[in-house]
Amino acid sequence: MQQHRNAALHDFHVHVGERIAGYQLRDGFADLNRVPGLAGIGAFVTEEAEHSLATKLQSMRQDAAANFAGKVFWHLTPLQTGIEELRQILAPDTDLKFYTTYKAAGLYRSYEELERWMLELSDLKPRMLVHCEDNETIEEYSGKNPFHSPHDHCLRRPEIAENKAVEKVLDLAIKHLYPVHIVHVSSPRSALLIHEARNHNPFITCETAPHYLLCNEERLTGKDAHRWICSPPFRSEKSRGELVELLQDGCFDIIATDHCAFSLEDKDRYKDVPERVPCGIAGLGCLWDSLYDGLVKTGKISLDSLISLVSLTPARLMNQYDKEMC
Ligand SMILES: [Zn+2]
Repeated sequence: MQQHRNAALHDFHVHVGERIAGYQLRDGFADLNRVPGLAGIGAFVTEEAEHSLATKLQSMRQDAAANFAGKVFWHLTPLQTGIEELRQILAPDTDLKFYTTYKAAGLYRSYEELERWMLELSDLKPRMLVHCEDNETIEEYSGKNPFHSPHDHCLRRPEIAENKAVEKVLDLAIKHLYPVHIVHVSSPRSALLIHEARNHNPFITCETAPHYLLCNEERLTGKDAHRWICSPPFRSEKSRGELVELLQDGCFDIIATDHCAFSLEDKDRYKDVPERVPCGIAGLGCLWDSLYDGLVKTGKISLDSLISLVSLTPARLMNQYDKEMC
């Protein structure tokens, strides 16, 4: 473990303690205590048919308070819950998360729906996290590229899908001066669009993930390649290199893992049917070391920059900075 200096790690994007696509995630809140230096996370609460969003949030709050020593900020995804009901549970430690894809899982929201939420919440303006991959584009490319091997994932969910959704969501954010945070940016073009959009709306923020800065699509061709299936997929080496340059240029506010660990048993069960492999990879355990080794030791960014990206700025986005870190 490299020296953390006084960096208290804050990972803004962690899937823990809930079920995703029918699978119980590998990690619960107690597992977070094993990550050295981890002081806070942004966790997701996705409404389910059996539990209202309010009930699920309450039970996850209790779970976290009983089992994790750090702070938790809550990213809420309402499915059936309407706006009036949602207003009752919004708090200083919550924001919203929407998806422009995942129709089969019931998570998909059209751009029109996103705009309606922005309009109806225009008085409170809770931050809106958006998973940007244009669903129509994915359907088109998936139709052309059957899912025979893990690497087909890259062809089925190309950068153009991300770019299209990012462009549409940024247009809405600018039109309504709404605070939007674009999660796991993996495409250099999307990062540039976001950078430019900030000239028109200073409340736009974004993150990229360690795996888009340190890995490329070749991971999806080797042994156990199915274990690396996540969305957006790993990109080309050219895109990976450009993303590091954009990081150096200050285009990303934070780096967050999108930690979404499934048990190996679940990940391997359908390894010969890649479409059925649960989508998501772990990342939290190596957040600091992988970035320190891959970006600081190699001279790509300074130690101070890394501390801003994984500690100070995400803490500020989770409203923790002023209270604890000044
Ligand atoms: Zn995620």
